[in-house]
Amino acid sequence: MRDREGREDQRNQKDQNNKKNQEVRILLAAVRDHCRVLGPGERFCIWVQGCPFSCPGCIAPSMHNLDGGYLMSADQLAEQILSTEGIEGITISGGEPFLQAGELAALLRQVKEKKNLGVIVYTGFYYERLLELSQIHPEIGQFLELIDLLIDGPYEEAHNFDYGMKGSENQRTILLTDRYQDDLYLYNDPESGRKNELYQSDSQSFLAGVPSKKMELQWKRMIRENGKAEKGEK
Ligand code: SF4
Repeated sequence: MRDREGREDQRNQKDQNNKKNQEVRILLAAVRDHCRVLGPGERFCIWVQGCPFSCPGCIAPSMHNLDGGYLMSADQLAEQILSTEGIEGITISGGEPFLQAGELAALLRQVKEKKNLGVIVYTGFYYERLLELSQIHPEIGQFLELIDLLIDGPYEEAHNFDYGMKGSENQRTILLTDRYQDDLYLYNDPESGRKNELYQSDSQSFLAGVPSKKMELQWKRMIRENGKAEKGEK
């Protein structure tokens, strides 16, 4: 009898969690499913919409405005990630992911329940500030607990030395688990080049990955000449 009640409780809890996730919606700028330029292996990459930092020289100004982007339920996005075969993990960038810490934590919980995917997050906040903020916003701590590698700090144009999968030298690669301990060279080794993927449709061009200075100039020229809506990564 007690077993049956226990199972019933578990089912109710699961139903409640599912219902909550359907209600959680994430403001997105873009997603790409087999991206190779923002971490090791093939990754499901998510660019969130909205950023408070306005770093001079930011490559993704179209992702700053909280009125832009589009909403998707955490449930629907989790399904999309889980049905993507052959990926090592997820990279979340933007925009500023920690503006939607609770929503992204709900998404990652749902995904990680079913698949052991790694999680890399780019943020304009420094880690210490996130720890301070987590005292008053517990969802920030909950999001941090689900991240394997955090690339922190704002983009500083003067410290962009043109290598690696991070925008500038002040940004740190912080291992929150040991999952990516052998991959830090991708970000920090001066020999590590930058790679991009360019996606184009009739109405939009989208550049994924941290661009080299040369690529950044070409990209900005292309946007000016074509007049297409642009999106890019920090
Ligand atoms: S570089 Fe990143 S943190 Fe800075 S304004 Fe752009 S999106 Fe925001």
